[in-house]
Amino acid sequence: MKAHDGMYIDGAWRPAAGRDTIAVVNPADEQVIAEVPAGGAEDVDAAVRAARAALPAWAATAPAERAARIAALRDVLVARKDEIAETVTAELGAPLPFSQAVHAGVPILVAGSYAELAASYAFEEKVGNSTVYAEPVGVVGAITPWNYPLHQIVAKVAPALAAGCTIVLKPAEDTPLTAQLFAEAVHEAGVPAGAFNLVTGLGPVAGQALAEHEGVDLVSFTGSTAVGRKIGATAGAAVKRVALELGGKSANVILPSADLAKAVGVGVANVMGNSGQTCSAWTRMLVHTSQYDEAVALAAEAAAKYGDRIGPLVNAKQHARVRGYIEKGVAEGARLVAGGPDAPREQGYFVSPTVFADVTPEMTVAQEEIFGPVVSLIRYEDEDDALRIANGTVYGLAGAVWAGDEAEAVAFARRMDTGQVDINGGRFNPLAPFGGYKQSGVGRELGSHGLAEYLQTKSLQF
Ligand code: NAP
Ligand code: MG
Repeated sequence: MKAHDGMYIDGAWRPAAGRDTIAVVNPADEQVIAEVPAGGAEDVDAAVRAARAALPAWAATAPAERAARIAALRDVLVARKDEIAETVTAELGAPLPFSQAVHAGVPILVAGSYAELAASYAFEEKVGNSTVYAEPVGVVGAITPWNYPLHQIVAKVAPALAAGCTIVLKPAEDTPLTAQLFAEAVHEAGVPAGAFNLVTGLGPVAGQALAEHEGVDLVSFTGSTAVGRKIGATAGAAVKRVALELGGKSANVILPSADLAKAVGVGVANVMGNSGQTCSAWTRMLVHTSQYDEAVALAAEAAAKYGDRIGPLVNAKQHARVRGYIEKGVAEGARLVAGGPDAPREQGYFVSPTVFADVTPEMTVAQEEIFGPVVSLIRYEDEDDALRIANGTVYGLAGAVWAGDEAEAVAFARRMDTGQVDINGGRFNPLAPFGGYKQSGVGRELGSHGLAEYLQTKSLQF
C-alpha cells in the first residue's frame, strides 16, 4: 500500500528526525503492507512549533472561512471515499462493505456537520452588560485509537479547526495509513500550513511526548482507560485542558414488554459490528428471567448467522487478549452458546462471534472491556435489579433500552448512569453529544458540545 515516509508538518511531508519505522500489518492475512516512520520527541516538537506558529492567523480567520475549509475537507473525503475504505480494510481488517458504510461514511457526515456548525455557531453572545466571546483554546494534541481510524481523527480535528484551534495528531500505530490519507485530504482542502500536523509513532514515545509538551494547550485522547488515566494526570499537573474518551461496558436492557427477537437480533449485531472493537458496544445483554432461555437461543442463532461475515481483530495482541477473556469466562462458569476461544482460521486474527449465557454481574466478562465479538447474557428479576446490574460497572459510555412503549424505555434510560442510550434501536445521530459518565471519560465529542470542548470564554463588561 501507498505510504509516506515522512511526517506532515507545516503543510509539507518532511523526513522524520530518526530512522525508526512502524511495520503496518494486514490483520486478515498477517502480511506487512507498508512502513511508516516512527516519530519521536523531536518530530513532536517540530509539529507543535508549526501548530503554534499557525495559531494566531487561524484563530483570527472568520468562522465562515473556517467553515469553507472544513466543507472542502468533507468534499475531498467524499471524492476519496473508496480509497479510504480500502485503506481501512487493509490495515484494520474490517470487511469492505462495513468500511465503505461506516469507516468512510461516518467521517463524511461528521465533517459535514462541523462545516455547518462552524458557520452557524454563536462565537459571541450578550449576557446582561457583558459580551462573552468563545475563543479557541489554542494548540490541540490529539491522540487517537485504531478501532474507527478515520472517525476518531475527524471527531477531534473537525471541531478543533471549526473552533480556530491548530492541531498535532498522533494516530494509533496500527492504523497510520488512514491518518496519512487524512493529512493528504486536509492539504487538498486548502487548510493553511501548520493548522494541522501529523506525527506517526508509538504511544509511549510520540504520544507521551505530545501529551507532555508544554506548547500543547489541550490534550484530546481516545483509547484505553489505563493510558487515559496517565494522560489525565500529566495534563492535571500542567493545568492543561484534557478530554478523555475511554472504554465502556454498556448494557442492552430488554424490558419484558419489548419485541424480544428484534432487541436480541439488533443487540448481537451491535456487538459483532467492527468485530466487537467499539467502545460503545452493548456487550452486556440484560434479559428478564421469564424470557431468558428464549433470548439465549435467539442470540446463539444470530451469532451463528454472523459467522464468516466478521472481520479479524486488529493485531496479534488483541487476538490473544480477547481469546484470553473468553477462556476466563468459561473458567468462571459462564456457558458458551456460540463461538469460543479457538481461532476459526489458520491465518489472520479472527475470533468467532461468541455468546455467553449464565453470566453473573460480577464475572470478569461482565465487568471488563473485552473489545472483541463477545456478548454476555445476564438475567434480571425485576426493573430495580436490571438497573442495579446496568449501572454496576466502573463505565458509563452508552447503552440501549427496549420496551413496548417509548415512555417506559425513556423512564428506565433516565435512571442509567451513562452518556448515550438508544431507545428501541434509535439511529446514530452525528450531532448528539458522545462521551462517558464515570470512568468512561471526561468531555463530549460531536455536535455543538464537541465544538465547545475546543473553546474557552472571555467576558467583556460594558
Ligand atoms: P491505547 O494504548 O490506549 O491506544 C490509544 C492511543 O494512545 C494510541 O494512539 C496509542 O499509541 C496511544 N498511547 C499509548 N500509550 C501512550 C502513552 N503512554 N502516552 C500517550 N499516548 C499513548 O489502546 P490500545 O493498546 O490500542 O488498546 C487497548 C485497549 O484499549 C483495548 O482492548 C480497548 O479495551 C481499549 N480501547 C478503547 C478505545 C475507545 O474507543 N475507547 C479504542 C481503542 C482501544 P499506540 O497505537 O502506539 O499504542
Ligand atoms: Mg497501545
